[in-house]
This record gives sequence, structure tokens and C-alpha cells, in this order.
Amino acid sequence: IDEVCFLSLYSFTQKYPPVKFLSEKDRKRILITGGAGFVGSHLTDKLMMDGHEVTVVDNFFTGRKRNVEHWIGHENFELINHDVVEPLYIEVDQIYHLASPASPPNYMYNPIKTLKTNTIGTLNMLGLAKRVGARLLLASTSEVYGDPEVHPQNEDYWGHVNPIGPRACYDEGKRVAETMCYAYMKQEGVEVRVARIFNTFGSRMHMNDGRVVSNFILQALQGEPLTVYGSGSQTRAFQYTLSNLNLLIYLPFFSRFAQLIKSLVVSRSHIQFLPEAQDDPQRRRPDIRKAKMLLGWEPVVPLEEGLNKTIQYFSRELEHQANNQYI
Ligand code: NAD
Ligand code: UDP
Repeated sequence: IDEVCFLSLYSFTQKYPPVKFLSEKDRKRILITGGAGFVGSHLTDKLMMDGHEVTVVDNFFTGRKRNVEHWIGHENFELINHDVVEPLYIEVDQIYHLASPASPPNYMYNPIKTLKTNTIGTLNMLGLAKRVGARLLLASTSEVYGDPEVHPQNEDYWGHVNPIGPRACYDEGKRVAETMCYAYMKQEGVEVRVARIFNTFGSRMHMNDGRVVSNFILQALQGEPLTVYGSGSQTRAFQYTLSNLNLLIYLPFFSRFAQLIKSLVVSRSHIQFLPEAQDDPQRRRPDIRKAKMLLGWEPVVPLEEGLNKTIQYFSRELEHQANNQYI
């Protein structure tokens, strides 16, 4: 039984997952924007189980109530339907600012809204952090490096982004969000952290979000062709996430990655090559030496284990959909 299944059992039985007791001094009031999404809901689980008070703010553009439903009604938990483009007035000690669509089809669906979310939304959250004296963590992205010319990418690389291309609403939106964080830190003394997250997969990622892992798994499970864009020789570093935030890094070529997912699913799907996506970064891989040295962070979950758990999750989701389609 995996962790997500374990957590959903609690929502089924109306009991809550076990929560640590924290003294008032150690217990923080934490705001998670985008907390009903894939990464945000795992972070919610981690911070709730650690004993903190968590407020999730989400407009449910790509997130779902189902991702956090096992906490609804808990005295330490609150879910607020709110768009971060509008100001928010609450009292908190820490802010994890994750609200933003993350997959290319989702962020390209309404580029102006993506820009507003990452600029005005981030400005609102920094304004809130300044007013209440909270520390803010921005979930930034490896996309700030664009189609990188330096490999692997370390924290000091400035990137290579097309400012008017189809991905710019997200890439430039996150770049300016980072700029805002450092401006608030330098000018107003707000304590900020910026995490440049690379491609992440795992349970609770949206099945139809158009990213490569969800596409390949869904296609393989449904017996449809696995769609490789371009030559399939692009690379990404993947990390697998659950509430224990275990991570893995692996560098597939997508033609080989498609083969691997096909064999794990035991699928008879064939592999189909489609035209290359515009401005698709060709090679991407983080230099993790600094994170290892300063934070002790290291990827630990092997790729096949992460993929197998994600495949099981997607199979259950398909079953759930089939059972609920007439409700
Ligand atoms: P996701 O789409 O599952 O979650 C994003 C959440 O933000 C959703 O719940 C969505 O409804 C919410 N949201 C979007 N716009 C909002 C708005 N205007 N107001 C309030 N809520 C809003 O995506 P994810 O994969 O969980 O990504 C979370 C964060 O991590 C994002 O900021 C993303 O840019 C960043 N990130 C993710 C990855 C990845 O591979 N998953 C990689 C790099 C960075
Ligand atoms: N990709 C692919 N087939 C798909 C979806 C994506 O070959 O069905 C490729 C895409 O062109 C890119 C890589 O997989 O080179 C990762 O794409 P994804 O959208 O998952 O993430 P991002 O481009 O944002 O890193």
C-alpha cells in the first residue's frame, strides 16, 4: 500500500492521518499557495503531519480538492478558494508560493493569465510576507534557464530564454518572480528562498496535463501510441516526489524513456514520432553539488520504483474515472 492510497483511506473513513504534536512555540502558521496541486498537496501532507497549521489557497485551475480532501475538517487545516492575482489578507509565519500552472499545455492555455499569476500573484504574496514578517519560498523552475547553453546548470547560470516565444509567459514570469523576491529581500528585508525545481513526477500529477511522464503512462495504459516530439534526443532530469519528498534524478532520452514506460506497463502501444515543439529545451540537468553540500539533499528513489508507483496511481485514477462517469 503506498502513501497516497494510505492517505485516501483516511478520507474514506473520515479519520485524519497521524499528526505530530508541536508546542505553540514550534508550531507555525503556514500558507501554501497552489496547495491543491500536485507538488503543493504533497507539501501540505508533509507540513500537516509535522504538526503545523496549514492554509491552502488555490483557484483550482489545475489543482483539485480531492488532492487535499483527507485534511478537510481538521482543526489545523484550512482550504481557501482564492486567486493569488487578487490581494490576500491573512496572518501567517511562512509562505510557500507555488500557485502557477506548471505543464506547457496548461501555462500556454492562457499566457496572459500565466503572466499575471507569476507577476501580480507573486507581488501580492511578497506584499503579504512583508506586512506579516513571514518568510517566503518561491517555487521557481529550471525553465528560467530556457534552452541552456551551459551543462549541467548551476545556480550561477543566467539562462538562455526566448522572451517572445510560446514558453515565455512561464519562463519570463518565473524569472521576474525571482527578481521580485530578491528586490523585496534587498529593499524591504523580507526573508526569501527560491527553489528552481526541475521536472517532477509522481502521484496526484494531473493525468491530462500533457507532460511527458503523464502522457507516456496514460498512452501506454490505454494502448495508444506513445508520442515522442522531435527526434526524442532531448534530455531532462526527473525527480519523483511524495510527502516524504524523496527525490530521484535520471536523464532519459525520450525515445528510450518511451520504451521503458512501455515495458513497465507491459503495453503493446507503439512509439510515434511527432514534430518538435517550438523552443523545446534540448538538454537540461541540474548541478546538484551545492544542494548536496549545503542542504544534504540527494536523490534517493530509483527511477523504476518512482515510475511503477506513478503507473499504479494512474491505473487507479482510470478505474476511479470509469466507476464515476455516470454520477
Ligand atoms: P499543478 O498545476 O499541479 O499545481 C499548481 C497549483 O496552482 C494548482 O493547484 C492550481 O490550481 C494553482 N493555481 C494556478 N494559478 C493560480 C492562481 N492564479 N491562484 C491560485 N492558485 C492557482 O503544478 P505543480 O506541478 O504542482 O507545480 C507547483 C509549482 O511548482 C508551480 O509553481 C510550478 O511552476 C513549480 N514547478 C513544478 C515543476 C514540476 O515538474 N511539477 C517543475 C518546476 C517548477
Ligand atoms: N515530450 C514528448 N512527448 C510528449 C510530451 C513531451 O516527447 O508526449 C517531450 C518534450 O518535447 C520535452 C520533454 O518531453 O522535450 C519534456 O516535456 P514536458 O512537457 O514533460 O516538460 P518540459 O518541456 O516543461 O520540461
